[in-house]
Amino acid sequence: EGDGTGTEIRELDAATVDRIAAGEVVERPASVVKELVENALDADASRIEVEASGDGTEGLVVRDDGVGMTRADAEAAIRQHTTSKIRDAEDLARIGTLGFRGEALHTIAAVSRVTLTTKPRAGGRATEVRVAGGDVESVGPAGRAPGTTVAVRDLFYNTPARREFLNAESTEFGHVNRAVSRYALANPDVAVSLAHDGSETFATPGDGDVRSALLAVYGRDVAESMIAVDADPEGPLDRVRGYVSHPETTRSTREYLATYVNGRYVSDGLLREAIVEAYGTQLAADRFPFAVLDVELPPAGVDANVHPRKMEVRFEAEAGVSEAVTDAVRDALREHGLVRSRAPRG
Ligand code: ADP
Ligand code: MG
Repeated sequence: EGDGTGTEIRELDAATVDRIAAGEVVERPASVVKELVENALDADASRIEVEASGDGTEGLVVRDDGVGMTRADAEAAIRQHTTSKIRDAEDLARIGTLGFRGEALHTIAAVSRVTLTTKPRAGGRATEVRVAGGDVESVGPAGRAPGTTVAVRDLFYNTPARREFLNAESTEFGHVNRAVSRYALANPDVAVSLAHDGSETFATPGDGDVRSALLAVYGRDVAESMIAVDADPEGPLDRVRGYVSHPETTRSTREYLATYVNGRYVSDGLLREAIVEAYGTQLAADRFPFAVLDVELPPAGVDANVHPRKMEVRFEAEAGVSEAVTDAVRDALREHGLVRSRAPRG
């Protein structure tokens, strides 16, 4: 019997387990936005609107015009490890969608108050599901056009430790802004907008042109300095494609180096360094270019399951990937007379 000294081993209740797990996936408001925007993209949306209030814990809304969900699917989506995207471990090897773990909605709903409103594109009624701290509070009919809106309020209200860890409002919104920007740039055929406390931060036209998206997200000076990269290299990569900035258009952080693997944003040191390497001595010390660069390779050449936040990957042929990216970027810069051909080392 327990004597109050705390040496007993107890089983944690499900709600506690969920909240602990949530901390792994949902680190900050930007993590919520990332998951919800990925869901909207997976749902074939042509328009995605993101709204943030305050530092993002007050409110985050992601609205899409995608395929939507039936009432049964909407209820199931909130439950753990429910996904329409894979059925078993074998499917996991050839994921084409951004999400696949079936845990994001459930996890977000465990640490906030969520209102999910959805209507299937294929026909049928709209549904509203309200959840607070993981408990479904109501499920009922709603009125809306086809698509899905997920409104998240009071993020981390039941996990005060996680809340404490957040930075100032401007920093948290900065993370939200960069997250939405990355998807906007990677999906120029989707009209993506972001608003903060009711005022528009940016809105891409969704006309399919990366340059229009760059103009909307970064403004004219950066957009006009971007140089196209398009290479079909030997080795592990099938294609290296995107834009990098002129060596004089830089920032003091690596955060504007947006890298993607098969269309999925990854926060990957290897790819970022490979891009920077291409500039050689053209970059001033501690300055980093802008980039929107996607590498394509067969799914077997990359492990996308390295980290629960899904933003890290591991390449099988790291050296080959790195070299192909540096060469592709250097060739593009060289075509614009921006890097000198180096004398062969020897
Ligand atoms: P995953 O994306 O890994 O499948 P999620 O928890 O993010 O897991 O979503 C669970 C399921 O809910 C998805 O597989 C999808 O069927 C459905 N879903 C989530 N968001 C949307 C959306 N915006 N539009 C349509 N269906 C959605
Ligand atoms: Mg998802």
